[in-house]
Amino acid sequence: MLIPPVSIAIIGAGPAGLMAAQVLSEAGLQVDLFDAMPSVGRKFLLAGRGGLNLTHSEPYEAFVSRYGARQSNIAPLLQDFGADALRAWATELGVETFIGTSGRVFPKEMKAAPLLRSWLQRLRHPGMGGVPVRFHMRHRLVDWAPVAEGGGGDFRFQTPAGEVCVQANVAVLALGGASWPRLGSDGAWAPWLAKHGIDVAPLIPANCGFDVALTAARRTEQTEPHANEAAQPQEGGWSAYFRQRFAGQPLKSVAITVQGDDDAPAFYRRGEFVVTTTGVEGSLVYAASALLRDELAARGSATMLLDLLPAHTSTQVLSAVQAPRDGQSLANHLRRRLRLDGVKTALLHELLPRESLRDHDLLARAIKALPVILAAPRPIEEAISTAGGVRFEALDEALQIKRVPGVFCAGEMLDWEAPTGGYLLTACMASGVRAARGVLAMETKAA
Ligand SMILES: Cc1cc2nc3c(=O)[nH]c(=O)nc-3n(C[C@H](O)[C@H](O)[C@H](O)COP(=O)(O)OP(=O)(O)OC[C@H]3O[C@@H](n4cnc5c(N)ncnc54)[C@H](O)[C@@H]3O)c2cc1C
Repeated sequence: MLIPPVSIAIIGAGPAGLMAAQVLSEAGLQVDLFDAMPSVGRKFLLAGRGGLNLTHSEPYEAFVSRYGARQSNIAPLLQDFGADALRAWATELGVETFIGTSGRVFPKEMKAAPLLRSWLQRLRHPGMGGVPVRFHMRHRLVDWAPVAEGGGGDFRFQTPAGEVCVQANVAVLALGGASWPRLGSDGAWAPWLAKHGIDVAPLIPANCGFDVALTAARRTEQTEPHANEAAQPQEGGWSAYFRQRFAGQPLKSVAITVQGDDDAPAFYRRGEFVVTTTGVEGSLVYAASALLRDELAARGSATMLLDLLPAHTSTQVLSAVQAPRDGQSLANHLRRRLRLDGVKTALLHELLPRESLRDHDLLARAIKALPVILAAPRPIEEAISTAGGVRFEALDEALQIKRVPGVFCAGEMLDWEAPTGGYLLTACMASGVRAARGVLAMETKAA
C-alpha cells in the first residue's frame, strides 16, 4: 500500500525523535511520526523506573568530557541544547527538576510517565502557530531506498494492515541503539544504512555488565568434584556455592580501579555494584565498562581491582589482618577487626587461592586491590545503552547524511557513548534539536 507522500517523516519515537517532532511542529511544519511499537517512548519510560536521570548539573567542561572521543562532535549539539535547556524544557512541560547529591538532575517525582504524558499533550496541541504531530504507531520500518533526486526516501513499513510504503522528502531517523530490543530499538537499521554506503560503526554494548572468568573457587570445584559427580570441563564464572548464595547481592562502599597501559590508574571510583549469576553489573561497573569492554576486545581479558574497604588505608588493613586471632575463624576475625563480612568476605574466598588467604600480606593486599578477572561483556540486549552507530564523518553539521540529502539521524543511533548520569538523554535530545533545525533550514531555503 502506498500512502500519500508526507513532507517530513520522523521514524522512531524515543526522546530524540520526539524532540525533533516538537521543534518542527512548533515551527509550523506538518510532521508524521512513525514507530514500531504501539506507544511512544518505551525506553524513556523504563529509564524512569529507577529514577529518571535527565541530565547533570556539573560545569560544562566536565559535562562535555563525558562523551570521550566524540566530545568534539557532541559539544556543538550541547551548545544548542545542553543541561540547562533540558531543565527549562521540563519546567515548561510542568515538571520541576532537582539536583541530587551526586549532581544528577531528576524530575521531582523521579518518574518519566508524567513528563512523557505532558510532552505528548504538547505534540498534539502545540499552541499558536504550531501544527499537531500525526502519530503512526505499529509502523516498523523494514527497508528504505534513498531518492537520489530531490532528497528524502521511500520508506517501507510493516503494519498490522500489511506493508505500507511512505515517500518522504525529508526524514529524521531516530531509531535508537540495540539494547533492550523488546522496547522497540533492535539495531536492525544498521545493515540497511550500511547497504547504502553509509558508514556505521558496529553496535556494541555500553554501560553494561560483565561475565567473570574462571574463579579460584570454581577451579577447585571443578578439579575436586563432589564424590558422586564426574569432573566437568572447566567453565568460567562463579562457583555454584557463590552464585547460589550471593547472586543479586550488592557490594556497597567499594571502589574499582582499572589500570592503564602505563600502570597508572585509568579509572578509579567509589560506589556500588551487584553480583549477578554470571558476573557483575550496576552503576560502578557501568562507569568503568567502556574501558573494560575495550580492554577485553583488545586483549581477551580485563581486570578490575576491587577495593573492599576504600575508607581504610593499606596499613590499617594490614595491621588488622595481622592482629592476634584469639582462635577465631578468618571470617570472624575480618568481621570483628574490619567489619568485613557477607558478600565481601565470600568474594575473597571465591577469588583468592587458599594459600593467599593464609598469608597476611597477600590477604591485606587483596582486601585493598582484589583482582576480578572479566571474561566478556554481557550481551548488548542487556546493556543500558549502545556504542557504535552512524559515524559523524558520514553526516554534515546538521546531522544530515552526506550521501543522502534530506535524511537526518539523531539519538543513540549515532556513534557516541557516555556513562550514565543523564548524559545519554541530554545528547539524544540535543541531537534531535540539531536534526530538526537542519530540516527547518532546508525547508526555509526551499520555500
Ligand atoms: C534500563 C535503562 C535505564 C536508563 N536510564 C537512563 C537515565 O536515567 N538517564 C539517561 O540519560 N539515559 C538512560 N537510559 C538511556 C536512554 O533511555 C536512551 O539513551 C534513550 O532512550 C535513547 O533515545 P533514542 O530516542 O535515541 O532511542 P530510543 O529511546 O531507543 O527510541 C527509538 C525508537 O525507535 C523505534 N524504532 C526502532 N527501530 C524501529 C524500526 N525499524 N521501525 C520503527 N520504529 C523503530 C523504537 O520503537 C523506539 O521507540 C536508560 C536506558 C535503559 C535501558
